[in-house]
Amino acid sequence: MPHRILVTGGAGYIGSNTTLQLLDAGYEVVVADNLSRGHEAAVPPGLLRVVDMHDTERLFNILQAEQIDAVIHFAAYIAVGESMKLPEVYFYNNVAGSLSLIRAMLRADVKKIVFSSTAAAYGMPSRSPIPESEPSAPINAYGESKVMVERLLDWFDQLHQLRSVRLRYFNASGADPACRAGEDHEPETHLIPLLFRAIETGQPVTLFGDDYPTPDGTCIRDYIHVTDLAQAHISALESLFAGGPSATYNVGTGAGYSVREVLDAVEAVTGRKVPHVIGPRREGDPPALVADSTRLRTELGWAPRHSDLKTIMATAWAWAQRAHK
Ligand code: UDP
Repeated sequence: MPHRILVTGGAGYIGSNTTLQLLDAGYEVVVADNLSRGHEAAVPPGLLRVVDMHDTERLFNILQAEQIDAVIHFAAYIAVGESMKLPEVYFYNNVAGSLSLIRAMLRADVKKIVFSSTAAAYGMPSRSPIPESEPSAPINAYGESKVMVERLLDWFDQLHQLRSVRLRYFNASGADPACRAGEDHEPETHLIPLLFRAIETGQPVTLFGDDYPTPDGTCIRDYIHVTDLAQAHISALESLFAGGPSATYNVGTGAGYSVREVLDAVEAVTGRKVPHVIGPRREGDPPALVADSTRLRTELGWAPRHSDLKTIMATAWAWAQRAHK
């Protein structure tokens, strides 16, 4: 019997890509999403249950009726800037919503969860690449909300044997190579889709600072293809199904690219110039965030396959052109 997985937030960017890959890998999937930020069209027909994470009773009923074996929990708000204006909304949605889901899981005796965490857990890290041993010290409410859920998961592991794998994503990017799913946020805050938009609209994109202590003065990030990210969730599930322990893993390539290098790569793949201006630094942006993913590679046998900048750009551009048609 194939394992049955509940994917919360499966109508979002990473959730919809992971759902497709789970189906490709032979899992059975049910998606739980309140569609507040996600897109119904991103979910394959018949899989979507429109439900809010605060509705513990309904989540319990879904877990039980659908005979769910494990949960992958993406449902959350993700905009760092918004989290600093509306922290109460972020803690309510991301922390209280997760606690509600966990309570439903405990009641339904579902004891395996893969949790969508973030490099924002590290705040301003003291080194790069960053290993998981770097202390959690978030500097925004979004990152704090994710760390709070990681801590909840520690307690439920200890007290209720709820096993969890927490994946700390670096910069999710790219689109499904078959162009079935991709990034579609509104408002969009992420660099790569904004560079494409600037090409399409002619409106310049602002590069946030060129006076950082990096070789070209712009921030360095670790861009990980969403398909590789989705695969990390499947590796995490396999580990849990094999009886593996709770664990935390960075998901990145270990290679950092500057904002200017990303812009150059967009120009190379599109053959067009990106209109841009240099603006001030964005508050809370560390100069460099690069993952040390050795633990994920050695313990779960994961390796990125689509995360060279060219493949990221080619798939993201194909998706951007298709999505805007
Ligand atoms: N960035 C930028 N202009 C934008 C959006 C982002 O220069 O309009 C920079 C941002 O400062 C960071 C990098 O691009 O150094 C990646 O930012 P993004 O918001 O995509 O992801 P984050 O690193 O915040 O998760």
